Amino acid sequence: MRAFTYERARTPQAASHATLPAGAKFIAGGTNLLDLMKLDIERPTHLVDLGDLNLRAITGTRDGGLHVGALVTNTELASHPRVKTEYGVLSRAILAGASGQIRNKATTGGNLLQRARCPYFYDTNLPCNKREPGSGCAALTGLSRPLAVIGTSDACIAQHPSDMAVALRVLDATVNTVRPDGRERALTLDGLYRLPGDTPHLETTLEPGELITGVTLPPPVAGTHVYRKVRDRASYAFALVSVAAILNGKAARFAFGGVAPRPWRVEEAEGVSVDTAPGRRASAVIDRAFEGARPTAQNAFKLPLLRGTLTAVLESAHGGQA
Ligand SMILES: Cc1cc2nc3c(=O)[nH]c(=O)nc-3n(C[C@H](O)[C@H](O)[C@H](O)COP(=O)(O)OP(=O)(O)OC[C@H]3O[C@@H](n4cnc5c(N)ncnc54)[C@H](O)[C@@H]3O)c2cc1C
Ligand code: SF4
Repeated sequence: MRAFTYERARTPQAASHATLPAGAKFIAGGTNLLDLMKLDIERPTHLVDLGDLNLRAITGTRDGGLHVGALVTNTELASHPRVKTEYGVLSRAILAGASGQIRNKATTGGNLLQRARCPYFYDTNLPCNKREPGSGCAALTGLSRPLAVIGTSDACIAQHPSDMAVALRVLDATVNTVRPDGRERALTLDGLYRLPGDTPHLETTLEPGELITGVTLPPPVAGTHVYRKVRDRASYAFALVSVAAILNGKAARFAFGGVAPRPWRVEEAEGVSVDTAPGRRASAVIDRAFEGARPTAQNAFKLPLLRGTLTAVLESAHGGQA
């Protein structure tokens, strides 16, 4: 690990301001950043610790939604009584990720901004445009089985690894931020995450020093909340594919994980073929939501796997078991 300086910020704006210079980075739970620093992939020269900030509360909003502070841990969020009962898809998605120990440390803001899990991003001996802009993409000719099938570019085909973000997308959550000059803004998940294009090292639209202060959930969406994750091991593994769904009669919302550089949701696909059997409906939804997909030979299996997973979700909801 390289040498760096360290400070604990006292206010969100102070944290934001301290992280404005190039080389400075926020640290929250540290479960992703410290690993990357040890591997010499992240090389911050100054760390701004967010641990003392007053961003640990989950509070009701005036319209009946919830505001979640950026430092609320994944465990606290998944086990909050209102999240368990009214935002079940979110609780289930978080519990499908990582391990109990990691969820106790990992924060809401850090989870959203965790870095890619492409094997070549972690291998400093091989080219990776995300790690070293302009160096090339080893995954294009190498192992691409876990990577994305849509939203990719010729520069990068990495998928977004967060389970929580997929649930936040299906719930239409917004991400609240503050910038170094104190200006605040609220971003949708699609507004937060950039697709890779020619600049895969730029993963979000956040400006230098911009701090995530929390996430706002709109009022609860009625229906059966489901998060189904398919992975190589039963625990402690990232999604090959995942489905976040809210089903209420003919109304449905679907977001997909493990398949794109950001949680993938295509609202126009949600209303197709609602009167057909689960298998046909799932195929129609996936066909529409993944129009223009560009899987590799190694990860083309993700599309039929998604069809099967969505079929199972629809069938279990029909049977009242989701
Ligand atoms: C073994 C292992 C298995 C895992 N499995 C899964 C899994 O199955 N599913 C899943 O979704 N995740 C998984 N994870 C990832 C885990 O969820 C993340 O490491 C964690 O959520 C990151 O949160 P953190 O608070 O520790 O972030 P940190 O490591 O502190 O920070 C991560 C990044 O976010 C930035 N950051 C942090 N907070 C803020 C903020 N408030 N504003 C702006 N920037 C900020 C940091 O600068 C850094 O770049 C796994 C991790 C490990 C180590
Ligand atoms: S897919 Fe993206 S993260 Fe993976 S090697 Fe290519 S550029 Fe790097």
